[in-house]
Amino acid sequence: MALPVEEWRRSAARCWAVLEPALRERLAAAPLGEALRMGCGLFGPEEAALQRLCRRARTGKEPAAARFYREEGNRQFGRCCYRDAVRLYSQAAAHEPPRSPEVALCFANRSAALFHLGHFEVCLEDIARAESHGYPDRLLPKVLLRKAECLLRLGKLQDATDTLTAVENKMTVDGIMTSPIHRMLLKKLSQLKTEIHEGSCPEPAREAHGDIQRESEIWEENGSISGASSSLSLNFSTERGRHLVASQDILPGQNLLKEKAFVSVLCPGEGDSLLLQDSSETVWDTRVTNADLYCHHCLKQLLASIPCCGCSYAKYCSQNCADVAWEQYHRTECPLGALLLTLGVFCHVALRTVLLAGFSEVSRLVEWSRDDSNKDLCNAEAGGEHPSEVLDTRAGRKVIPGCNDNGQYQSSYQAVFNLLPHVEKHSPEHKFLCMLSIVAICKKLQETGLEAAVLNGESSTTGSEQKTCGKTSDELSPELMIMAEAMLRHVLQLQCNAQAITVMQELGPHRCRMRVAERQQLLSQYFFECRCQACLDELESDVESVSMRNSFCCPSCQASMQGEEMLCCSNEACAFSVSRERLSQRLLDLQQQMEKALELLRDSKADEAIKMLLKCQIDARNFLSPEHLLMGELEDHLAQVYATLGKWQEAARHLGRSIQLVEMHHGPSSVEMGHELFKLAQILFNGFAVSEALSTIQRAEEILSVHCGPQSTQIQELQEMKTCLLELPRSILQRT
Ligand SMILES: [Zn+2]
Ligand SMILES: [Zn+2]
Ligand SMILES: [Zn+2]
Ligand SMILES: [Zn+2]
Repeated sequence: MALPVEEWRRSAARCWAVLEPALRERLAAAPLGEALRMGCGLFGPEEAALQRLCRRARTGKEPAAARFYREEGNRQFGRCCYRDAVRLYSQAAAHEPPRSPEVALCFANRSAALFHLGHFEVCLEDIARAESHGYPDRLLPKVLLRKAECLLRLGKLQDATDTLTAVENKMTVDGIMTSPIHRMLLKKLSQLKTEIHEGSCPEPAREAHGDIQRESEIWEENGSISGASSSLSLNFSTERGRHLVASQDILPGQNLLKEKAFVSVLCPGEGDSLLLQDSSETVWDTRVTNADLYCHHCLKQLLASIPCCGCSYAKYCSQNCADVAWEQYHRTECPLGALLLTLGVFCHVALRTVLLAGFSEVSRLVEWSRDDSNKDLCNAEAGGEHPSEVLDTRAGRKVIPGCNDNGQYQSSYQAVFNLLPHVEKHSPEHKFLCMLSIVAICKKLQETGLEAAVLNGESSTTGSEQKTCGKTSDELSPELMIMAEAMLRHVLQLQCNAQAITVMQELGPHRCRMRVAERQQLLSQYFFECRCQACLDELESDVESVSMRNSFCCPSCQASMQGEEMLCCSNEACAFSVSRERLSQRLLDLQQQMEKALELLRDSKADEAIKMLLKCQIDARNFLSPEHLLMGELEDHLAQVYATLGKWQEAARHLGRSIQLVEMHHGPSSVEMGHELFKLAQILFNGFAVSEALSTIQRAEEILSVHCGPQSTQIQELQEMKTCLLELPRSILQRT
């Protein structure tokens, strides 16, 4: 996804493999600009293959696709699956020509689905959109009645009345009102009028606004790093480039940075339906990609998207986002959609970065980096002997690369440009792939007459004619070479400096869940080795703490077992031995028994479930160490069964033991611990164990607010429980 599609990676690798060894060496050692110049000649023979690959990415508007999605949408609508219908009508709209009756029809259909979902405001927006895109006049009464109903639901009585009057007039003017449709509409009309007259409209519906930002946190901003907390300071080293260091102790959950991304691109996501297997296939499918879920520009979640006028893959949350995106970058990217999808997100980010920065700023910094005296700053690890701060010869002061002349860090293209590209550390093959890909983008810009738009950062129509005609040679214009050099630099930087935002991941890498070798492996893409205390301890002690706790014990005397494939009892007097495989099989059987117990619970056979779990527990004690996580799971399940029976004290007792094990394995402030405490709080709450419940709620809140944020449903539920407990009458409190 981040890198180009596999076929193009293979093409580039083949191309690299057959190069003369001398040329390969020259390419590997050449500065970026020089390598690009050589690369232009090498791209030619690969161009046709890349074009074939691009044809698989369907990014244009296709009437057949529009028809397919609209019919699918109608089907889902008929089955009352309104959410799916909204999405499918959106996909249909993206394939219809802009300002056509067809696209208007998509918006009108979508408004009906939105109405059923209770999104009245958005429904009104879609109706307005349908009207402005040329919705067929004869169908208008139906849509206007929906509009009146929305207004009514929103409590806008006057607007609703006005709309109804308009519908009535329209139907009178249209004449004959004998068709079944018209009769139905008339019935609806009179029904709505009665509702208005009687004032019987429902409570004005409030639409949910989920993303209310809370700015309650005290935020002390750093004097020299905009958007950073004062607990941080900015450093520079030859090995790491510009980086942040903690200058004060940092509490878990404390906010450290609030910076808007200089550039962001929506990842198309895995299983991308835009990339079909075969170009001859015209089969459309209803799979959902990120392009259907998030705004192409601001990445907000989409409800009723607005399609780009030119392509089928850019969808926006609002007309404003569509306009801003077009102005800033999309008018250049729009015709390049298939190429950008084929070359992957890193190339896409690189292009958008230079488009946002503008040619003059890009060229200023590229020229600066070509200057010999600045080379080491741009690619610091090549130099190797710089002090931790760098003397800016011009100003005669210490300035960290990327900061302004006053030494202050601010989000800017200059700051992005000065991130380390690690040119020396990437493999020559990888650099070659990136280089060919960037050349492909620039060639395309040159051929399609978009060059002028890129260079001026202004309207694409001005002066593009003269610039582009006749440029079919292998060469790129000097200006495009500058853009290409910057883009190549950005692609190489991205591996170490880009942030991919996926959905909130609760169980991220942590020393309690992952061994040191796995953790270090994750860091290798950043050319970085962690030397934190946890890593050092684990590397030195050679003890695999995670597996130690999840070990077997002797089935004969319960002492610990030692060995690899053959396990021997550590108690010499016992000398019991057994194969690891046997015990592993026994563990598997035990887990199956546990699953069966849970099934019993689901079938409301709680008593049988308890019996089975207790049997599992006896069995587990025979061959698992008391600290084994499965012991905790058994306790957790027992707690669950007792809770369904309303035996709160027993439930709390079992959960308490589970919590001990979770704390041992995952640590006292882990998210796992938070979840267990949350369960305990619920049990104590239900059992009226007021003071215990209150203290458990507080512990759970402290942990979960760090991991899940103060807006999470769990935190809110905890707070509701607390309020409820504090409001209990004294008489009940004294009883407990
Ligand atoms: Zn948006
Ligand atoms: Zn577009
Ligand atoms: Zn570490
Ligand atoms: Zn033994």
